[in-house]
Amino acid sequence: MSWRIGLGFDIHRLVEGRTLWLGGLKIPFSAGLLGHSDGDCLVHALIDALLGALGEGDIGQHFPDTDENYAGISSLKLLRQVKEFIRRREGKIENIDAVIIAEAPRLNSYFPQMKSVLAGELGLSEDRINLKAKTHEQLGPLGAREAIAAWVVVLVELPEG
Ligand code: MG
Repeated sequence: MSWRIGLGFDIHRLVEGRTLWLGGLKIPFSAGLLGHSDGDCLVHALIDALLGALGEGDIGQHFPDTDENYAGISSLKLLRQVKEFIRRREGKIENIDAVIIAEAPRLNSYFPQMKSVLAGELGLSEDRINLKAKTHEQLGPLGAREAIAAWVVVLVELPEG
């Protein structure tokens, strides 16, 4: 077996009148993330990290935002397809570590549920997923609550060759 690391990043604009989806969870807040899909930047960064570990490009290549099939789609559905890529490669996710950068809302209380959703989707034990929330210290657009961003790293075990 060989170890493959993957890195993902995503940022979406926060706008009023949208539902806030993060980590597959609907979070009560006054604004939501703008996007062609549900705008879930944590799941998008996770998908990019997994695709990175597989050496299979990025989310935009697999799920183009010009494709009407993906309009308003739950990002968990896209994650399910990436899980299928890993299964086809006979890969296994070792662990996931994520940082969400959000000035608001405070997210820590949602982490147990988010872990449960993501672990369920990926067939992982919840202790293989670590989530962290940071503010942006009121600096720049993230600090002005104009956007939420996420960084994710994953370790995937793949058969040699
Ligand atoms: Mg995105």
